[in-house]
Amino acid sequence: MAMNPVINRAETLKVLRNTLIGYLNLGINEVEFEKHKPNKHKSKKHLLTSLMNEVFNCRKCPLYKGKKNYVFGEGDTDASLMFVGEAPGYYEDVDGKPFVGKAGKLLTKIIKAMGFERDNVYISNILKCRPPNNRDPLQEEIESCLPYLKRQIELINPEIICTLGRFAAQTLIGTDVTISNLRGRIFSYKRRKLIPVFHPSFLLRNPQHKKETWEDMQMICRILGKEIEKNG
Ligand code: SF4
Repeated sequence: MAMNPVINRAETLKVLRNTLIGYLNLGINEVEFEKHKPNKHKSKKHLLTSLMNEVFNCRKCPLYKGKKNYVFGEGDTDASLMFVGEAPGYYEDVDGKPFVGKAGKLLTKIIKAMGFERDNVYISNILKCRPPNNRDPLQEEIESCLPYLKRQIELINPEIICTLGRFAAQTLIGTDVTISNLRGRIFSYKRRKLIPVFHPSFLLRNPQHKKETWEDMQMICRILGKEIEKNG
């Protein structure tokens, strides 16, 4: 059956819009498009751009149908610290950016308390599309989407991966141990350190656990040789 040309144009515009958001998230501007000198930094950005384009055309699981935007991830592509959450929520889906809702504001506060800016770290999720009504990701959705995150991690090559919440930790470590028993410990993920912490949305509901999270963040700062100027 022939595709309705109006729907086709709308879909094309949506893909173009998502691609532009992604370029901006990756910090690629028009000046960089005009430069042709090969360098390591640029090739990494361009590999991330092609990965992002793959994500923006992905239909590997049914979640693409209900999303407003794919949420690829954003931040410093040379970051030594990469945060990995579970999946986009309502505001992330609307903006096409990770961790911009209430939980995101708390994460930004934590990042600043660690002595970083959001731009100094990289933030992504296991799933690039929002599950309906923020329900838990299904195993088949995780399996479909995980290869994107794995490639993102390889390209960014952080020293530390800080997983936010149960799903990210269990998925990357390959365990079903609870987050309460995973946090506070250092795991290994493909020659990198993986440190699980509570999800910021859990901390909003359970502020009594902020102290443990701050201890985990202090541990991350110590490993990175980062001096903490302020108490969390
Ligand atoms: S959640 Fe991941 S695998 Fe599923 S459609 Fe979105 S990008 Fe593709």
